Amino acid sequence: MSYCGGVRRKTQTSWERALAQTLTKIGLRFTSQRQMVYSVLLDVRDHPTAETVFLRSKQAMPEISMATVYNSLDALVKCGLIAQVNLHRAATRFCPNMQEHGHFYCDDCGRVYDISLAPGAGMVDIPTGFEPRHFEVSISGRCLECGRGESRAHSSERSR
Ligand SMILES: [Zn+2]
Ligand SMILES: [Zn+2]
Repeated sequence: MSYCGGVRRKTQTSWERALAQTLTKIGLRFTSQRQMVYSVLLDVRDHPTAETVFLRSKQAMPEISMATVYNSLDALVKCGLIAQVNLHRAATRFCPNMQEHGHFYCDDCGRVYDISLAPGAGMVDIPTGFEPRHFEVSISGRCLECGRGESRAHSSERSR
């Protein structure tokens, strides 16, 4: 198994300290399970679903349960360390990037990419008197990698 997440370090790193502080600030406990779940999200930033987070956490922490993973994700969302990403009707995914950014969802491979927002990209005509608090940019289509695969398939068709 090539996955190497989480709990191999003995000393608390800065993100672990930050996690502990952020959790206690809103009255939640710092637990090794919450730490595990957060480290899984930081390790591979591919916007996993709760199910994928569970499978990855299990590799380093076999006793962790799905309910604990849900609970940990919930705690991390509540304290503002991760965000839920909802795209179309797909399962909720989780993202540890708390900078303002959008998401590109590839219809072909199902991967979700972070996209940076150009200054002013969020500019929309907001009716007078409305107070915007949050906006989301989500785009679906085909990613670079899937596009490459397609053009390879086309060129081999032509050479036949
Ligand atoms: Zn793709
Ligand atoms: Zn993201």
